[in-house]
Amino acid sequence: MSKIALAKRWKKSLSELLEALGKAAPDHEDLFSELSGVLESYLDEAAVADIYKATLYSADAHKGQKRISGEDYICHPIAVAQVLGEMCMDSRTIIAAILHDVVEDTGITLNQIGESFGDDVAVLVDGVSKVSQLEFREHAEAESFRKMFMAMAQDIRVIIIKLADRLHNMHTLDSLDDVRKRRIARQTLEIYAPIANRLGMRELSQKLEDLSLLNLYPKRYSAIAKKVKASKRGRKPVVNEACKNIQDKLAQNGLKVEVYGREKNIFNIYRKMQQKKLSLKEVKDINAIRIITEKRPDCYQALGIIHQLYKPRPESFKDYIAIPKINGYQSLHTVVVGPFGQPVEIQIRSQSMHRIAEKGVASHWFYKTETTGEHAPQQLAQQWLKSFLVSQHMSSDSGYYLEHLKADLFPDEVYVFTPKGAIKRLPRGATALDFAYSVHSGVGDHCIGALINQTAVPLHEKLSNGDYVEIKTSRNARPIPQWLDYAVTSKARASIRHYLSQQKDRESLRLGRKLLRGALSDQGYRKVRIPSADKVNLLKHLELDGWERLLIDIGFGKRLPILVAKQLIAESEAQQRNRPVPNDQKQSTLTIEGTERLLITYASCCHPIPGDNIIGTTTRGRGLVVHQSNCKNCKVIMRQPDNYFHLSWSETTKGNFQVVIDVETQNEPGVLATISNIIAEHNSNINSLTVEQELRHTAKMLFIIEVTDRKHLADVMRQLHAEPSVIKLTRG
Ligand code: MN
Repeated sequence: MSKIALAKRWKKSLSELLEALGKAAPDHEDLFSELSGVLESYLDEAAVADIYKATLYSADAHKGQKRISGEDYICHPIAVAQVLGEMCMDSRTIIAAILHDVVEDTGITLNQIGESFGDDVAVLVDGVSKVSQLEFREHAEAESFRKMFMAMAQDIRVIIIKLADRLHNMHTLDSLDDVRKRRIARQTLEIYAPIANRLGMRELSQKLEDLSLLNLYPKRYSAIAKKVKASKRGRKPVVNEACKNIQDKLAQNGLKVEVYGREKNIFNIYRKMQQKKLSLKEVKDINAIRIITEKRPDCYQALGIIHQLYKPRPESFKDYIAIPKINGYQSLHTVVVGPFGQPVEIQIRSQSMHRIAEKGVASHWFYKTETTGEHAPQQLAQQWLKSFLVSQHMSSDSGYYLEHLKADLFPDEVYVFTPKGAIKRLPRGATALDFAYSVHSGVGDHCIGALINQTAVPLHEKLSNGDYVEIKTSRNARPIPQWLDYAVTSKARASIRHYLSQQKDRESLRLGRKLLRGALSDQGYRKVRIPSADKVNLLKHLELDGWERLLIDIGFGKRLPILVAKQLIAESEAQQRNRPVPNDQKQSTLTIEGTERLLITYASCCHPIPGDNIIGTTTRGRGLVVHQSNCKNCKVIMRQPDNYFHLSWSETTKGNFQVVIDVETQNEPGVLATISNIIAEHNSNINSLTVEQELRHTAKMLFIIEVTDRKHLADVMRQLHAEPSVIKLTRG
């Protein structure tokens, strides 16, 4: 069966269905015939057929459900579709509107909707259901909520459907109790009307505002309405006369226009009274006329003709066509001295300007009534935004407005709820951990997990719009380096880095303090507290600005505790003698000068000498002990990295160093004298000699001699080697 035939059949069964329902409420059928009248005026039959199919489907799904007013539930989606039909929205949007409460309120799933009407419709229905769920929360910050709403909507059509839904709900508030009525009205005023306004949908936003005012402050509303009505009567002769004269004059000049008296909406008058603190009596009557022309050039022509007809007040002329308002609004505004010498405000705009001024983003669908995949709705919204931009000579701040509007429509952010219902804005991709840090760095530093929508999740879980996030903390929890892998906000990353580096500092500080203490007491320093004058002097010499920094450096191994201790003692003595410390002691380095003999122990296991690779280790009671880095004892020491330092010899190392040499010789008279002589010839002292083994033919001896460095030792050993009585020679 063709779509057209189907459309007819569905329409017939719908009429029958609604007629049947209508026995209880007689206006049901009217509702549907009104909708079909609008739809059939701008959509093709196939599209209309799909909408009828959806209407039957929805009526079936909502069967038996009533609204609080007592009418059948299906009346609501039909009325919402009607609002959208009047905006000439595309058929997919209208189908989604017809089905918008089906998933929430009946057993039908999104999948089923996708199968019956296409995935794009299912996505729209899902979007509307999700933003609807937001309404049940109490919100403090309207601005954040609006942003969250926009962010959640994803598809701009979701917002438009939701606004239409809200409009119908506002029309039917009467059946609710006062508390709910006022709550919904306030929400509409704070959230939905501004969103509509933001999207340039002036007509809709004004309706929402008026209905909100009516329900929030019925007395004020009716007082203003009465005044508007009265003044309209009073202005009628002036406005009628002006309209007629203008219409005639323009027609004579071959211009086809629509001319009508314009009324201020009630909420605008109320807002003006609030802002300017006016009483109702002080609000001025205004004779206002609007002229809609066919084309843009007609606007200027009409203006010229009107200015010939009535004398203009030049100071009040505004050309918003050449320079549109920041929301894209275009019109010519002028005030003339009209009939009976009365001032008349006149707006002149073309049909397309009028459509944009009234319908904003929704005006775009007027041209592209049937949009499918290739015209993604976001693209249409982009085009709408662009249509402002191409209007030449935009006012200077319009760029700013558009950037913000764009950010609202296509946000790079997610909006989530705190347990108290506040809204947090985070960059897209943010995780539960980022959320924790956004609450407070203390919460972040101690968090152990999160609940998203009451489900336990790990900290790296990504957040989605509308999530309700709660953070679990523990006093013992601390940041770990892995957190940097999944924190995306700069606040979280900075806090984690800060904590980690502080942690390292804290550990170094503890160790540094311990090392310095040990080194000082090794040097016979007996003061329990280091006098702060000594600290200050030492820091000045080391060019450091904090005592803790010095201790941290020691702990890190950047400075030798023993050298710092030595320096400190020198400072303290100099202080007592009241004379400056010699310059050469200022340098605290990791090199061994050879002059620290009293402060440094050279390990007797390996006897390091200048030129050897060395490490230093601090052992309580022994100060700094220097080992050769290949000493077998170092293997144990090096297992604890905090326990040793790499050292080097200064270029100008001074002094003599003990070294052990094993000598095996022929056991013959005079050998010992020969060896002693050779050592003496090289300006080396023999500190000790041990004869380890004396056999018949050979002897083994252990010398401890003093050398200045490796080269010195090598010279000695080379000559000993050359001696015929020496059989074997090794450094011990
Ligand atoms: Mn609804």
